[in-house]
Amino acid sequence: MAKLFRAVIMGPPGSGKGTISERIAQRFGLTHLSSGDFVRENIAANTDAGVLAKTYIERGLLVPDHVMTRLLLPRLEEMTRHSWLMDGFPRTLAQAKALNSTCDLDLVISLNIPYETLKDRLSDRWIHPASGRVYNMGFNPPRVQGRDDISGEPLIHHDDDKPEALVARLRQYKDLAKPIINLYKSKGILHTFSGTDTDRIWPYINSLLSTKIPSTSQTDTQRI
Ligand code: ATP
Ligand code: MG
Repeated sequence: MAKLFRAVIMGPPGSGKGTISERIAQRFGLTHLSSGDFVRENIAANTDAGVLAKTYIERGLLVPDHVMTRLLLPRLEEMTRHSWLMDGFPRTLAQAKALNSTCDLDLVISLNIPYETLKDRLSDRWIHPASGRVYNMGFNPPRVQGRDDISGEPLIHHDDDKPEALVARLRQYKDLAKPIINLYKSKGILHTFSGTDTDRIWPYINSLLSTKIPSTSQTDTQRI
């Protein structure tokens, strides 16, 4: 069987992770997995994990590790014939360790974006509690202000989720990501990309992956 390729992409809120993940998935034929999408699917399907996760997202909090691992690891174990790129998981060292015991990663991409750039892109965060959809007014605004794109229902906004709180969120990312990044660095699979502009970072990621992803894996993924 062709060698499969498994990668993780990490980056702070507003780092362009989602955009870059989509480009990688298209260019290299990897399946793009997003932890946020898994959570939202579970909320929509009213699973036990989804019901629990919703109570955290409503409060603007991360979902606890045991809920995330219970949601995601079985899905990854099923992906025995696909090459994939995971976005949004692991977010904590405990999640990274759990992932480690499930599979061997080939590569980790870490996006290192200047604080000023992130601050410009992100501002207030609004949440649609029923679905778990998250909007950023500066970066990913809803089509109609204050309304969810799909249901049209009102979005909720936390008073403590003002621009000042962004500083705290970016700091939380940094604190949580640091030990994960060190872990992947020590395994020799970490690749860091720095810059202010997604379109300028992309060529470097593209050329790295061109050397890392075996073409057999690309063919195999397309055949499935
Ligand atoms: P970010 O701005 O950091 O990308 P986000 O607010 O866009 O985060 P998503 O990645 O879309 O969020 O995920 C939606 C929500 O699901 C998160 O705000 C968080 O509450 C929860 N979540 C997603 N992945 C994880 C994870 N690995 N650990 C804990 N909670 C998670
Ligand atoms: Mg996101």
